[in-house]
Amino acid sequence: MITKNEIDAVLRKYEIRKITIGTLGSHSALNIFKGAKEEGFKTICICKKEDEIVYQRFPLADEVILVEDFKELLGDNIQKRLKQTNTILVPHGSFNAYIGTEKIMDDLHVPLFGNRELLRWETNREKQKEWLRRAGLTLPKTFTDPQDIDGLVIAKFSGAKGGKGYFLANSVESFHNKARDMIKRGHFRREDLGKIHLQEYIIGANSYPSFFHSPLKKVVEILGIDKRYESTVDIIGRIPASEQLEIALNPTYTVIGNIPITMRESLLPAILRMGDSVVTVSKEIAPPGIIGPFCLETVITDDLEIFTFEISARIVAGSNVGIGTSPYAYLNYGEGMYMGRRIAKEIKHASEILELEKIVY
Ligand code: AMP
Ligand code: AMP
Repeated sequence: MITKNEIDAVLRKYEIRKITIGTLGSHSALNIFKGAKEEGFKTICICKKEDEIVYQRFPLADEVILVEDFKELLGDNIQKRLKQTNTILVPHGSFNAYIGTEKIMDDLHVPLFGNRELLRWETNREKQKEWLRRAGLTLPKTFTDPQDIDGLVIAKFSGAKGGKGYFLANSVESFHNKARDMIKRGHFRREDLGKIHLQEYIIGANSYPSFFHSPLKKVVEILGIDKRYESTVDIIGRIPASEQLEIALNPTYTVIGNIPITMRESLLPAILRMGDSVVTVSKEIAPPGIIGPFCLETVITDDLEIFTFEISARIVAGSNVGIGTSPYAYLNYGEGMYMGRRIAKEIKHASEILELEKIVY
């Protein structure tokens, strides 16, 4: 595992006035690059050949490194180039999904914005649960054996898979029928069946607040709230019930985008306190705790009870709804603030006061 000392040694060789902000070309890269440019940084994009068009049409990356596979980020040549350009990498969902936390912890020597250790907590469901429980949040019940299904459950797979292949079941029989259907439709493999995670399905409205914890300013800000737009669950209302029954519609949850939300104001006190307590606990479980963006994935019931089913300890793609501005970023900053820019602003602040080592790991 790469130690903080090694990262600090890399950082000491950096030219502090010439920091570049880099990331993988996907997920929230445009958000991150735009923010970096607006705060005066150079940018670098590690991009798959087939996706280069994005960074040509939105030319926000000063340098594009083309790869066949995101795992090439870990190769010596690319890491050398990133260090030469004084790059700080901003991790997002594609880092977990296509490289994996263990490889990042062991092989990525380039400084990352944020606390690496928490990426490990984020990708381990048991650790996540422990973190959220200790923060006093309300979680849905979870179990692993389909025999224990005694009400509506959602079946999930590990890793940031964006809801692909998730399905609902109400009994052990419907679980097996639907799992078979999902395997047939190519959503997951039979050998992954044992890795399924079952969670009590909470009937309520989804909302995903995106927070930012600044260790420099010592505040937890809320920069935006979104919900997901998912195929096919979000379109079943367009198909009459009779046809749904006829085709035995079995919806899944593949995310295709996000929709902004402004929250009922009387829900904000609870949401804000949840963000604060998650940060407090993060300092105990992985000192110095969360640095920068994180998101709580919640469902709010008609009793206004807030259930949290997941945490992302990094920028989420839902924060892309705020590119330009969101109501909550506007309230604190006026126009032109959003997660990518807030990250760049923190890096800029830290470099100005010579405290970069406090925000990269
Ligand atoms: P991608 O590079 O688009 O494949 O995204 C990397 C990971 O983040 C995948 O596991 C996606 O499912 C997830 N992801 C991408 N975009 C979103 C989004 N808008 N909302 C939630 N998850 C996402
Ligand atoms: P995820 O990829 O885990 O963020 O979830 C995919 C979809 O399932 C989203 O629409 C979530 O709101 C929904 N979801 C996940 N867990 C639950 C739950 N325990 N109860 C209700 N909806 C959920």
